[in-house]
Amino acid sequence: MAEGKSILVDTSRCTACRGCQIACKQWHGLAGTHTKQAGSYENPSDLSDQTYKIVRFSEGKNGDGKPYWYFFSESCRHCLSPGCMAVAEKDEIVVDEKTGAVLYTPATKDLDFKETLKGCPYNIPRQNPTTKVLAKCTMCFDRITNGMIPACVKSCPTGAIQFGERDAILAAAKKRVEELKKTFPKASALDADEVRVIYIVTDDPKKYWKYASAK
Ligand code: SF4
Ligand code: SF4
Ligand code: SF4
Repeated sequence: MAEGKSILVDTSRCTACRGCQIACKQWHGLAGTHTKQAGSYENPSDLSDQTYKIVRFSEGKNGDGKPYWYFFSESCRHCLSPGCMAVAEKDEIVVDEKTGAVLYTPATKDLDFKETLKGCPYNIPRQNPTTKVLAKCTMCFDRITNGMIPACVKSCPTGAIQFGERDAILAAAKKRVEELKKTFPKASALDADEVRVIYIVTDDPKKYWKYASAK
């Protein structure tokens, strides 16, 4: 199904305020995470069954010695053909017909977690250590099926995250990439034909995060 909903994350508009990360936790009632200072503003250090969205921080130097500092507000891409479903046998993982959201049910506790994770090219699924249920972004299914936009989209102060019909989001992504290319020739919309959560970057995606693109 190629219709349904999509989310656009324009990293060129992201200030790394982490409002989206906190809004996600708040809406879903997810617990805070004990963290350690690891020499970066990235915090916590990874996704978990209690953290569906995380803002990745990436620092480095280009070939000309100029530094870059990139932000990548990461979560499940809601793939059109979800690799994480490869090991599912029944309805442990379902794709909602209307929105296209990829949803994990409590029955995911019976799945082989390592195999499920291996099937995801973006390294997204996580497991609750106690219940064994798998967890990730729900596209805020409870909100979007009740006339609201996802919590992360609602919270973003710069308009870096947009939500809407897939056709409209694809058109917005194309238009924005064309604009950005005038200044940043490497600008692109990552894996746009394969995923519902589309990231716009202005440089090599691997500089943002090793799992930014499946390619
Ligand atoms: Fe599944 Fe990974 Fe795609 Fe999300 S990003 S739908 S977890 S394969
Ligand atoms: Fe979290 Fe909802 Fe945003 Fe997914 S869509 S990252 S569940 S706030
Ligand atoms: Fe970036 Fe918006 Fe998330 Fe803030 S809320 S970190 S600006 S995507």
